[in-house]
Amino acid sequence: MRGTKVATRALRFNASRKFATVTRPQGPSGLKINAERLWETLHETCKWGEAHRYGDDPKETGMARLTLNDDDARIRRWFANEVQNLGCSLSVDQMGNMFARRSGRLRSPAPMTAMGSHLDTQPRGGRYDGILGVVGAIEVLRTMKENNFETYYDVGVVNWTNEEGARFPKSMCSSGVWAGIIPIQDAWDLRDIHDQSVTLRSELERHGYLGDIACSSDPKSGYPLGAHFELHIEQGPILQETGRSIGIVQGAQGYRWLTLTVKGKDAHTGTTPLSARQDPLLAASRMIAASNDIAKRHNALASTGIIKVPSNASTNTVASEVTFTIDIRHPQDSTVHAVQKECLEAFSTIASQDGKGVSFEWTLDTDSPAVQFDRNCIASIQAAAESLVGPEKSMLMTSGAGHDSVNTSRHCPSAMIFVPCRDGVSHHPTEYCTPEDW
Ligand SMILES: [Zn+2]
Repeated sequence: MRGTKVATRALRFNASRKFATVTRPQGPSGLKINAERLWETLHETCKWGEAHRYGDDPKETGMARLTLNDDDARIRRWFANEVQNLGCSLSVDQMGNMFARRSGRLRSPAPMTAMGSHLDTQPRGGRYDGILGVVGAIEVLRTMKENNFETYYDVGVVNWTNEEGARFPKSMCSSGVWAGIIPIQDAWDLRDIHDQSVTLRSELERHGYLGDIACSSDPKSGYPLGAHFELHIEQGPILQETGRSIGIVQGAQGYRWLTLTVKGKDAHTGTTPLSARQDPLLAASRMIAASNDIAKRHNALASTGIIKVPSNASTNTVASEVTFTIDIRHPQDSTVHAVQKECLEAFSTIASQDGKGVSFEWTLDTDSPAVQFDRNCIASIQAAAESLVGPEKSMLMTSGAGHDSVNTSRHCPSAMIFVPCRDGVSHHPTEYCTPEDW
C-alpha cells in the first residue's frame, strides 16, 4: 500500500540519525535522509519562539510558539516557502491547516499519503513535540527530491493548527474540525486565554491563514487524506527505560476533560466558625484528592492542571468560588467513564461534608475516545522498524497523549512512530531527543 512507502521513509529518517560512521541497514527505497541537515533545520527554525533558556548551548532553550502568535506566523511562512521550493503545491483550509503535496508518478487525483504533526507548542514547551514530526517530514521530501525519487501516488506533509490547545483551549483542535468532531464555529470562536478580545478566527485572519478550502475530509469541499503517518517523541519514559529506539504506536488511550465549578460563600475567616462556612476551596481540594484515589483504584490517571480562585481573593476571607479541571485517562473507554462516574458521586458527598456545604456544576470539555490505529499501517511500520533496527530495538505501544493522528484515524488509515525523549520529559523546556540514540 502507499502508506507503507511513506512509513518506511519516515522511519528511515529516525533510524539513520546517527551522524558519525554507524552504518544502518537501508530501507526498501534505498534512500537515507540527511540527519545532520534535519538536526540543523529543526534547531534553526526554533529561533521562532525559543524561550526559557536552561543552558549555555544555543539549543538549550524551550519554546513558547503558541498557536497563531507572531512566531507561529513566521514558522508557517517558512514552511510554505520550504515546501514550495521542494516543488510541492500548498493548500490552506479554513482552520489554517497547511497541506503540502508532492505529485506522484501516476499524477493521480487520489488523496495524498500524508506525514503530519504540528508546529505550535505549549507556553513552556520543548523543541521536539510536534516540531520533529513536521520538520522530519520536510527532510523526507528533501531527500526524495535530491534523489529524484518518485512515489506512484502523491505524498505530502500537513501542519495541523492548534494541536496543543494552550492559547486557544481545545487540543487537537483543527484535526478535530477536519475529522468532523468539532464544529468549525466553535473552533473559530475559541478565545485567547489571556485576551478575550482575540479569537482563533481573528488570528487566522490577521496572519492570512483563513484559507478557502473547507476544513473537512470530504473529497468534494475539503482536503481528504489517503493515509496519515505521524512521527512524534514518546513524551514518556518507556522507550528509554527499555533501551528501544522506535515505538510502533497501536493506538491512543481515551480521555475526558471536565471543568468543575464549586460555589460557596465568602466569609470572614476570623469570625465564621468552620461549621458555618461554605468553603469551595476546601471542597475542591478534597475533590482533587478523591479523584486521585479513584483513578488509582482503576489503574487509570486523573489530574488537575488548573485551579482558579477569584482574583480578588484574600487571606482572611473564605473564597466564594473555585474552578478546577480534571483530566481522566485510560486505554479503555469504559474505565474512563467509570472513573468519571465515581468522581462525580464522590464530589456530591464531599460537597455536603464540611460546614454548610457547597454546590458544584461540571461541564465535559473534551471527550476523546480510545483509538485503535490502522492494522496495515501498524504492520508496515513494524516491518520497516524490524528491518532497520531489529525487533529488540522496537516495540508496540499505546500513546498516553492525544495526537492529530487520533483524529485523522477516523477518516483515513493512520498510525504513529515514537522516538525516545530524555527521561520521558515533554511539555517542558528541557524536552530533549538525543540524535545519538537513533
Ligand atoms: Zn505533539
